[in-house]
Amino acid sequence: MQILTTDVVVVGGGAAGCYAALELTRKHIDTIIVCKGLVGKSGASLFAGNLVLGGGLLGNTPEQARNTAEFLIKYHNQYLIDQNWAKRCGQWIESVYYPELEAAGLYFRRDDDGNVVVSPGKIRSVAANVQGNSGVPFMDLRRKQVIKAGIRRLEETIVTSLLRREDGSVCGVFTVNCLTGEYAVVLARAVVLATGYSDRLHKRSTGTREMSGDGLAMAWRAGASLVNLEMQWWHTNDVAHPPTWQRVQIYPNPVLGSEHSARMVNSAGEEFFNQQVDDPMAFGPYTVQLKRLVKQVHAGKARFDGGYFAGFDHIDPREIDAYTTYGKPFYQLGLDPRQGPIETAVTAHYRQGGILVDTANMRSSVPGLYVAGGVGGHSNGLIALVTFDGKCVADGIAAEIGGLHPGTLPDEQVELERRRIDSLLASNGEGLAPVQVKEEIRRVMWEKAGVEKNHASLTGALEDLDRIRTCVLPNMRVKNHTRVANYEWVDAIDVHNMVDVAELIVHSSIERRESRGPFMRTDFPETDNENWLAANIMIKTDNGFRFEQVPYDLPFFQPDFARRDNMAVPW
Ligand SMILES: Cc1cc2nc3c(=O)[nH]c(=O)nc-3n(C[C@H](O)[C@H](O)[C@H](O)COP(=O)(O)OP(=O)(O)OC[C@H]3O[C@@H](n4cnc5c(N)ncnc54)[C@H](O)[C@@H]3O)c2cc1C
Repeated sequence: MQILTTDVVVVGGGAAGCYAALELTRKHIDTIIVCKGLVGKSGASLFAGNLVLGGGLLGNTPEQARNTAEFLIKYHNQYLIDQNWAKRCGQWIESVYYPELEAAGLYFRRDDDGNVVVSPGKIRSVAANVQGNSGVPFMDLRRKQVIKAGIRRLEETIVTSLLRREDGSVCGVFTVNCLTGEYAVVLARAVVLATGYSDRLHKRSTGTREMSGDGLAMAWRAGASLVNLEMQWWHTNDVAHPPTWQRVQIYPNPVLGSEHSARMVNSAGEEFFNQQVDDPMAFGPYTVQLKRLVKQVHAGKARFDGGYFAGFDHIDPREIDAYTTYGKPFYQLGLDPRQGPIETAVTAHYRQGGILVDTANMRSSVPGLYVAGGVGGHSNGLIALVTFDGKCVADGIAAEIGGLHPGTLPDEQVELERRRIDSLLASNGEGLAPVQVKEEIRRVMWEKAGVEKNHASLTGALEDLDRIRTCVLPNMRVKNHTRVANYEWVDAIDVHNMVDVAELIVHSSIERRESRGPFMRTDFPETDNENWLAANIMIKTDNGFRFEQVPYDLPFFQPDFARRDNMAVPW
């Protein structure tokens, strides 16, 4: 087995992981990236449609800058955010992020007069090339930068566990190469988890195949505290059929370079959402759309998995074709959202919650374990925010590197992990294939811990997950026993993380006894700022876990009510 040593191992090659590695390297801290897919070509970052959050490049007025901050804190995080971190982040995006990207050659879409094209309105965004496809050129750039910087990469390689010293601090990772089946250990002074926010845990999800909650599962096993896991966000307008197109979006956000947005129509043909009219920020927090949709579902005029429609049939088609991907790629799929609305459905999207971090340095509660990006519980994802995390974690580690000791090989843990992963390859029960178990977990989460839930449905989910853990997993059947490019084996590894994370999410959902933004409990329909304007922290104990609620400081924006029906709250 290969044993590599470095100062820092970064787990994940999305926007957060790449930027963390680049910043660490700039500070002369030796870094290795381990990535389940290809660096810059796996995870959610690739799918970012726009570059949201305005900086100086957008020519924002002070009022627009304030709107953007309000959007981030109130509409994007429902106040469950460190507002001082949000402020630092906004300042960095303005002064460093956009100028640096442009200097590195990222092309922000311009009109014929050379002006950067924005989505006009209270909040403005730009696109790298076109709306709907900004993540691709963005991550192409990051991949090139990582390669050019000479950063070592273990690609198509899964981190399956965090290795720890006797004092509990993290000292490295155990890995499996998906293509060769070979194991390797990377020993380090510090590990940065940058595995993304999305866990592909629901029947419909914007997550990709490598998203199985690995980062959360590994951090929890290592003893890290988690926060606000229940705060799941939902896309409201992704194509309903076939299931493989579930990540194809018809955003009801402002169309780039236009005053218009997609509209949403129920099964009776009645328009029930139009961004410009119905959204206070006229920008696109999905919660506002989701609340409208829930009312339609209650009225029997839509379902969460379809039966309602979105499109641009009220807009001049030239506005759609100019700067968005809602034209050509859709026609290639036989769809034309310019002509008439297309059937859409809800998909699980960001998870706002994740690993609890100190936002000053992105340290988790476990020594040696740091976090960047969506897997952290400090904010909802956006590509600019997770990039800022990459900077913060590099600064944090650089400040502490003197006190971080080189990784040492914990032989016993390595041997145990090797045997565990070997035994998954050898799974020869009579039961379901790993991919079928994944589908079963996703069905349970969709039906019992989906958009609307309550104590009864959530405890039902726990029972089902327990049945999967105790009866289905031990009886799982892996037919293909080769070590080479065996994605059935990968599924078998993933599925254990998925069960663990699904359970943690359900427990957190039971604990938050209110409704807030996209978190909707039918048995606690009110947003309760008296008791729940707080981080819902899950702490591992010797015999399980306990919860602790820590109120947020609210230095800049505060809600203006104590309790209110969540459906009547505009954010
Ligand atoms: C459909 C869609 C549309 C979006 N639109 C926008 C938008 O318009 N604007 C915007 O700003 N943001 C948007 N986002 C959100 C944005 O893309 C994310 O917030 C951000 O990219 C998250 O970056 P990340 O680096 O934290 O995670 P990711 O980009 O998800 O990267 C995670 C990385 O971790 C790796 N990984 C996972 N598990 C393991 C493991 N066990 N071992 C090794 N590696 C592992 C993966 O392979 C991947 O490389 C969108 C997201 C999606 C899915």
